[in-house]
Amino acid sequence: MKLLRLCVASLVYLLVQGSATPQAKPNIVILFADDVGFGDLSVYGHPTSSTPNLDKMASEGLLFTQFYSSSPVCSPSRAALLTGRYQTRNGVWPGVFFSPSVGGLPLNETTIAESLKDVGYKTGVFGKWHLGVGKDNEYLPTRQGFDTYMGIPFAHDMCPCLVCFYPKAPCFDQCQTGTTPCPLFHNEEIVQQPVDLTEITATLVKGAESFINSAVDQKSPFFLYMSFQHNHHPQFAGKMFTNSSIRGPYGDSLSEMDWGVGQIFQFLKNAGIDDNTFVLFSSDNGPSFVRQIRGGNGGLLRCGKGTTWEGGMRVPGIAWWPNKIRVGRTMELAGTVDVFPTLMSLAGGKLPNVTMDGVDMAPILFGNKKSGRSVYIYYPSSPDPKLGVYAVRWNQYKAHYYSNGGLAPDFYPDEVCRGNYSLHKYNPPLLYNLHNDPGEIYALNVKDYSNVMKQIDDAKSAFEAGMVWGESQMGRGLNPQYEPCAKPGCTPFPDCCTTDGVSEILRPDMSIAFV
Ligand code: MG
Repeated sequence: MKLLRLCVASLVYLLVQGSATPQAKPNIVILFADDVGFGDLSVYGHPTSSTPNLDKMASEGLLFTQFYSSSPVCSPSRAALLTGRYQTRNGVWPGVFFSPSVGGLPLNETTIAESLKDVGYKTGVFGKWHLGVGKDNEYLPTRQGFDTYMGIPFAHDMCPCLVCFYPKAPCFDQCQTGTTPCPLFHNEEIVQQPVDLTEITATLVKGAESFINSAVDQKSPFFLYMSFQHNHHPQFAGKMFTNSSIRGPYGDSLSEMDWGVGQIFQFLKNAGIDDNTFVLFSSDNGPSFVRQIRGGNGGLLRCGKGTTWEGGMRVPGIAWWPNKIRVGRTMELAGTVDVFPTLMSLAGGKLPNVTMDGVDMAPILFGNKKSGRSVYIYYPSSPDPKLGVYAVRWNQYKAHYYSNGGLAPDFYPDEVCRGNYSLHKYNPPLLYNLHNDPGEIYALNVKDYSNVMKQIDDAKSAFEAGMVWGESQMGRGLNPQYEPCAKPGCTPFPDCCTTDGVSEILRPDMSIAFV
């Protein structure tokens, strides 16, 4: 009898304890692709891409059909993702950072990682950073709220001698000179230079696994920002994926990224935390056409990277959290600038006390409700305070006030996408209905839509009246002394490769340990 009472008491205690335990904060994973367009994934309709893991993620999660990046190029898009603020506010304009850039994402900006750390998260970024390095590493992720960093701090086309840093497979680009070979950082130390692209995805995935397991061991929620080098040019893939796709080099690269995505999901499952992890997949901008058939695809959208046409900024967006967020497709309007407030809502974090441009996506994720935003702002690759916003979307309508060409070659059939298409001002603006014309083919007669144009003009004026431009970080210029080098001074410069493609791997026995 005494034993029975003890058992009942224990059971009651366990039940009370169980019900009193607050829901653990969700783990958060952002899977971020580079230059992957709206039409590149099989789940978004590409006929020859093989992305089974992203397809599975979409079948178990919520696929956005109207999801946007904040910029048609890399650095500003990443700055807006991590701060919830347009690049014009946070200073990451005009254009992108290069390996000798002096500037970086300003340290007084609050990143998602910093805000999540404040509420107990372990934070890690694996892959492309592209928000500056600095003379003394002052702009690396480790100074922006991330406990752990591993990756190349910029795009891998910004390094010289591609035959050198791509030693084991064909090279799909020209050798550039004048900059240092691509460095692989682990936290603030360069552990490989030149980086071996054929191994990097597996290395980063392994690093992410260690990071996840370490956080789980410490019973800590975590924020993993998995920022793939794929599918920026030049295309590359490891041994497992080279010549694996009928789509060619772009397809090989995409398959390797998809494999990495699958590995991350497997790690979550292995650790038994997949039901308490929110995962979001997206891309930093639309497809680049500069390498033609080795580039991405915007599907039915017009133009690509470098433009404010839909193909430049409407990107894949897939959210996943089993048994929590709804499953299916949403046509609601959202974008990467909305990620910061959404994650704070999920994690119980605080928003910084600055002007935020993002809107919480929770109503779309959880309740099949309307998006909190009706307006989306399009800035070009290189915003200019004298010109301001290039296009504005209000509900299904989008007006172009300016446009410029992107990266498409001179023979590309649609001239507005070509690299040689100069700045155009539209007066009256070019107006499209994106719900029945997502390809922006049939401009509406603005005289028939005066009420719509007034709404758009008013939204543009209100937004621009509240825009305080941050000091331009790209305006701080380039300085060769700022190039990240494993060897002090990088002398002779650059010293890691030779013109015949023979590379000196600085630390071939690299072993990476995580704490
Ligand atoms: Mg990009």
